[in-house]
Amino acid sequence: MSKKLLLKDAHIEGIRYFDTYRKQGGYDAVEKALKMTPDEILEEVKASGLRGRGGAGFPTGMKWSFLAKPDGVPRHLVVNADESEPGTFKDRYLMEFLPHLLIEGMIISSFCLGSNASYIYIRGEYSWIPDILEEAIEEAKKEGFLGKNILGTGYDLEIYVQRGAGAYICGEETALLESLEGKRGNPRLKPPFPAVKGLWERPTVVNNVESIAAIVPIINISGAEYSKIGVGRSTGTKLISACGNINKPGVYEIDMTITVEEFIYSDEYCGGIPNGKRLKACIPGGSSVPIVPANLLLKTINGEPRYMNYESLADGGFATGTMMGSGGFIVLDEDQCVVKHTLTLARFYNHESCGQCTPCREGTGWMYRILKKIDSGKGTMEDIDLLWDIQRKIEGNTICPLGDAAAWPVAAAIRHFRDEFEWHVKNPELCLTQNYGLAHYADPLPAPAVTN
Ligand code: SF4
Repeated sequence: MSKKLLLKDAHIEGIRYFDTYRKQGGYDAVEKALKMTPDEILEEVKASGLRGRGGAGFPTGMKWSFLAKPDGVPRHLVVNADESEPGTFKDRYLMEFLPHLLIEGMIISSFCLGSNASYIYIRGEYSWIPDILEEAIEEAKKEGFLGKNILGTGYDLEIYVQRGAGAYICGEETALLESLEGKRGNPRLKPPFPAVKGLWERPTVVNNVESIAAIVPIINISGAEYSKIGVGRSTGTKLISACGNINKPGVYEIDMTITVEEFIYSDEYCGGIPNGKRLKACIPGGSSVPIVPANLLLKTINGEPRYMNYESLADGGFATGTMMGSGGFIVLDEDQCVVKHTLTLARFYNHESCGQCTPCREGTGWMYRILKKIDSGKGTMEDIDLLWDIQRKIEGNTICPLGDAAAWPVAAAIRHFRDEFEWHVKNPELCLTQNYGLAHYADPLPAPAVTN
């Protein structure tokens, strides 16, 4: 049984409301933290080993320590709730069912960082959640946990909720800040980084919803205890949003010591693949991370079991591994077509490119159009090579990571499933009508050992 820190009370009726949340020990961490100094809180966060849960996995304590020392200029905490990566919906769950956990984490984090005005920037499509958050903010204010002179400590904090307009690029932290300032959400050139010049050119920390929620258990149990959960540099618990061809899609909290095989096949988590189908591939960290075929997903290239943590999923680099990313776990069974799947993702990234830099603006369009050609049975072998060439020219050559996010799925699909691309070229009529999941593989991917 995996340890639960964030979702331990998620099943309790009414946990969305202050009174119920408080009865479960909610806001105890705020009371504790406001008796500490900001430096003491920072040391706890550093000791916890918490890594940013938005995708990059950068150590949160280190990110906070980059913030310039207070010099009388306002500083801000901005929570990135622009969760738009296809396959990722864990922050939605947190905000919808445990809004006070996020508010509590924000109060502690804002106090530590010296912010008196903090923001939640939420994606426009989560249209019903701002009301939930604003209601929770009002409740917390009424109870003296927000506003002026919180709990008589002299510390003031206001939290504002800002709705985005539905652009994926606003999940990139500098595009988010631009949008929050009322401008078009174009990513900024870096440096300077937000820790130096962020919101309205003031020192700013931008953190993901789950990262800020995790501050609450860190203060409650201490950073040292938090760091004992998990393994290696993958400390604490991680929320995974699981979807695709599995029996039990949903949001799961794992302690990062379980294997990928256990996560997919055990009844505690995904419950296996429907209709006895075989596992073909998986994108374990949201749509931008490399897809891996079943044989490399369940075991590393060295034959070791693959675990659900940052290091194990990345084992082998992009040649044979992938990334933990945002924890958007997308499972593909034997019937799924990798070409069509890659086309869907390419269309998404092409649509979401902000257009500032040429490799991304033009390259995402080229990749989409070539994939469409191959998928419709009109592709050539040269098109596959051209596709490979274009993704290489995008990666690392753009202002923000959207370029990489668009290139990696294409690269991984060709790297691991080139046969399938070639099959589309060689069988133009068949590829429009047949199930080309595993059918054309001479040596089907191995069936998993765990079947409970
Ligand atoms: Fe815009 Fe794409 Fe360049 Fe990012 S990589 S700044 S999304 S054009």
